[in-house]
Amino acid sequence: MKTKNAAAKGIIASFVNPTSSGKVEYFEKACLLWNTEGEITYFGDVPPLETLAGQSVLLRENFIVLPGLIDLHTHLPQYEFVAQGEHALLPWLEKYTYPQEARFRESRVAEEQSRNFFESCLSLGTTTVVAYLSPFFEAAAIAFEEATKAKIRAYMGPALMDRNVPPDLQTTVNQTEKDSLFLLEKYHKKKNTEFVVTPRFAITCSEELLALSGRLSQEYKTLLQTHISENVDEVHETLRLFPTASSYAGVYDRTGCLHERTLLGHGIHLSSEELRIIQERKSVLVHCPTSNSFLGSGIMPYRLFKEQGLSMGLGTDVAGGYSLSLFDEMRTMVEVSKLRSSLLKEESTVSVENALCQATLLNARAIGRDDLGSFAVGKKADFIVVDSSMANPLLNERKNNYDALSEKLQRIVYRSHPQMVNESFIAGEKVFAR
Ligand SMILES: [Zn+2]
Repeated sequence: MKTKNAAAKGIIASFVNPTSSGKVEYFEKACLLWNTEGEITYFGDVPPLETLAGQSVLLRENFIVLPGLIDLHTHLPQYEFVAQGEHALLPWLEKYTYPQEARFRESRVAEEQSRNFFESCLSLGTTTVVAYLSPFFEAAAIAFEEATKAKIRAYMGPALMDRNVPPDLQTTVNQTEKDSLFLLEKYHKKKNTEFVVTPRFAITCSEELLALSGRLSQEYKTLLQTHISENVDEVHETLRLFPTASSYAGVYDRTGCLHERTLLGHGIHLSSEELRIIQERKSVLVHCPTSNSFLGSGIMPYRLFKEQGLSMGLGTDVAGGYSLSLFDEMRTMVEVSKLRSSLLKEESTVSVENALCQATLLNARAIGRDDLGSFAVGKKADFIVVDSSMANPLLNERKNNYDALSEKLQRIVYRSHPQMVNESFIAGEKVFAR
């Protein structure tokens, strides 16, 4: 067996494999093989070594392999100002977000920040990202080029706004249609990139712009991403701007923005009628717990929504969220669920295993990617190699007694460290190495 061949076709390591039940399977030592298309051809016990003769197989015996993580909601242009601000959503957008996004008019800024963002994602184990971009078409094209170079799976679109933001961030309905058709033609389903129709949220979009967003996303079968009911003031302002709408969700519904490829960020303060519409349209509610804590927005009842049968997602929502790491997001998801349960006497909480299943397999399903998110023959070999001893090591740490794989998983989620992801692979190709 060769162990240092760049064109590896297999890996032997410990594995954690998510399942749709919300539990994971642990393999202390297993083998994953894939073909030249990057599709998994084998996952299971390590076969007799002679059967692997001639194949390049990496040995990573002290490492844990997880499926590549999938971030369903984040903002590329906001990464530079993570952890800034002590405001609620609306004033925070005015003070930090809009001025920062305006800087992306300069192509040098767009290029540097896009490159840094994608490299950061891969270094943190995120192999698929769904992101809002700045409002500028040129900066969006640059982001697509940089994502293609980084080889990350990227679903993105410029944040569409035609009112209630500074004039230089506003677009028009006609311009949006023209720009979207160009981006669709050039980047949609090309290599690893897809175009996403991205009306920022109802406050910054006219009825016409929302209607165009709904139409484009349905006609071209793209994802549509927007925000909903993150903050109580935002809900009131939306209802003031759309006085004839039945509800916040009603605004999106009557403009064709709610369908099975719609990702709705947050959804904390929804009425039961709104939840019914969202469920009927098969749209996805994307939980962003770090951001919700940081901006004091509230705690989404993730577990209750899931039990009601709503389709759920998980995202970092940088820079409302102060970390681009989905390991950090999983930890917050578990912690706020326990907090909510103890405060409101709810019975069920989210476990570390549930959180990992959401950040991988269930997030993949939410964007129609049944070929991602776990290890099975025929799926894509997207995976990350994690060094659990790097999970915020204890001082003078030697081998400790808590080294079962389930204990290591607890540790990498609760004590995640930016350097613990050693390598990231997409379709069997190494796209990041420390
Ligand atoms: Zn957001």
